[in-house]
Amino acid sequence: MRLTGYEYDKIEEFATDMLDDLGIKEFPVDCFKTAELLGIKLKRYSDLTPYDADFILKIIPDGFSLKKARSFYIYFNDMADKNRIKFTIWHEIAHIQLSHDQILTGDNISDNYKAKLEEAANHFAQYIMCPPVFIYKLGLTNELDIAEACGISYSLASNVYNRCLKAYRFPIIREKIYNSKIAKILTYNPFFQT
Ligand SMILES: [Zn+2]
Repeated sequence: MRLTGYEYDKIEEFATDMLDDLGIKEFPVDCFKTAELLGIKLKRYSDLTPYDADFILKIIPDGFSLKKARSFYIYFNDMADKNRIKFTIWHEIAHIQLSHDQILTGDNISDNYKAKLEEAANHFAQYIMCPPVFIYKLGLTNELDIAEACGISYSLASNVYNRCLKAYRFPIIREKIYNSKIAKILTYNPFFQT
């Protein structure tokens, strides 16, 4: 499910403002630290009882979030691949920060609307993990270098790379990416490790 250009822009703006408000200055951004700054509690599947973990793994393989007594929790599959875990946590942070209440409470919503909220959370995660402006600024010219520099999976890198290639053909969009606020608040740290 695609969102409108305006909706994608708003998500990027929202993600950037969130990082700015939290005083985050380094790229790649640490999702664990961000969750902590937001007061979100992280729970690993491996901390659940084996029975619960088994059950949850079958229905929600990556992770989910919920609100309990005014606190937000993200449960995630800590046995998954490192890049997948990071994407899951950013995706869940997005649901919480974008106030996707129906996702957090598991309310019944139409498939269409659910797909829209999922796409919004995916875009938020992708944008924070790999903002196109860094691809231009760091001079990254292939998927492998992007994956390496941003600490993301090859498939995510490939997604963003293709978007950048397309955008590069249009001077107005290229200009807009170059001037992204996110590159003004974050500085690339090549030694970042998670
Ligand atoms: Zn989701």
